[in-house]
Amino acid sequence: MNWQAGLAHEIRNPLAAIRGFLQLMRERPDARYLDILMEEVDRINQLTNELLMLAKPQDNIFEEINIVTILRELLPLMRSQANLQAIVIHEDVPSTLPPVYGVKDQLKQVFINIIKNAMEAQPSGGYVDIIANLDHTHIVISIEDGGIGMSEETIAKLGEPFYTTKERGSGLGMMVTYLIVQNHLGDVQVESTIGKGTRFVVSLPY
Ligand code: ADP
Ligand code: MG
Repeated sequence: MNWQAGLAHEIRNPLAAIRGFLQLMRERPDARYLDILMEEVDRINQLTNELLMLAKPQDNIFEEINIVTILRELLPLMRSQANLQAIVIHEDVPSTLPPVYGVKDQLKQVFINIIKNAMEAQPSGGYVDIIANLDHTHIVISIEDGGIGMSEETIAKLGEPFYTTKERGSGLGMMVTYLIVQNHLGDVQVESTIGKGTRFVVSLPY
């Protein structure tokens, strides 16, 4: 299935549910249906948000941007979510790192997507370690979790649109992540062991 067809499918399913429940409510109003309606609307909203990042390349303004700044802006929000799940996010990112040339919102999205996955891989708590280093051409950011890990099959399919092992996953997060990093002439590597955890390593040229 090509990916536009997949997207149409992903939108049509919640739409069909919304229509069905609206029809039910017309016949038999019941406030409990509202939660389901809200959930399905949220799902479509999430899908479109994930894709919007890629949809308007003309809006992408490349500028000198510091990875520390990006993390500082997104970590408070991620940490408040992590707290609820008994996950501790450690971060070791020197403020002396040179800036990269990039689109701020896109780079933010890269880290949000990876950290979100790291948290979703640890339903009963754990950690996310974010460590940034410098080599002679790239800033290398490692994001490690102690979660469920991935099978060889999942690693191979990572980044395919709509590939997900989650009941309510979109399967778009990693595709968007890879496309953004490519767009920044960077690279993403992954190492993972089932039952032990996963490490993503994002390299961005500076
Ligand atoms: P989604 O999160 O909606 O499932 P993604 O594209 O973000 O879609 O991820 C695709 C799949 O990759 C996930 O369903 C999961 O199986 C796997 N995955 C990604 N990151 C991790 C991780 N840190 N630990 C375990 N599995 C992961
Ligand atoms: Mg995801």
